[in-house]
Amino acid sequence: MTDDRARMLTDIADTADALTDSYTHIEPIHTTDRHRNRRLTHLHTVRLPGLLTQLHDLFEPGATQDDNARAIPASKPPLNLEAINTHTVIVLAVTRWCWSLQINLRDTVESNIRALVGASATLDSDTQAALLTELHTWHRRAAILTRWQTPPYRPAATCPHCGSRNTIVVNLDRREAFCNGSNAGESCGAWWDPGTIGVLADHVRLETSAA
Ligand SMILES: [Zn+2]
Repeated sequence: MTDDRARMLTDIADTADALTDSYTHIEPIHTTDRHRNRRLTHLHTVRLPGLLTQLHDLFEPGATQDDNARAIPASKPPLNLEAINTHTVIVLAVTRWCWSLQINLRDTVESNIRALVGASATLDSDTQAALLTELHTWHRRAAILTRWQTPPYRPAATCPHCGSRNTIVVNLDRREAFCNGSNAGESCGAWWDPGTIGVLADHVRLETSAA
């Protein structure tokens, strides 16, 4: 096996793990004293589920809070359609991959992804590369959506990459965005991070000012 091929298989397995497996997240906890000095007091360790489960947990905001919290129906936030939409798109794409590789479908999207990883070693390198690109796209979308602090912003503009309209989803807090569009069954993998979001902002500004 060549180094490139080994690296691609490792990358496929790692990206799949992030989507499907739980992991330990360590968060530094700081306090500020009366002189306004920030001090690290301890490390808070939490066990987080895989990204797809985190995405699923966002469907109904507040649904995963502990039962002791009093439910106030009038203030219940609406369903998180962006999370539902993205999760559904990923489930369908994973299913399509299993069909095309003639893998018997399992019960959950996580186990189907693990089955794809299991089959990846026997694929030709073009198919491996295509699978890896898809996994990266699913991972990026789930990662951006699970880090929301405020509702996603959808500019009324086209995607500079695939040309679809109203498919760009922006996380304003983190200055990240991705395109939810697809063309002939293939996902548009376009995404922007704080280093590149200015380019997207200029594009949106140009289009909306021309309209
Ligand atoms: Zn696009």
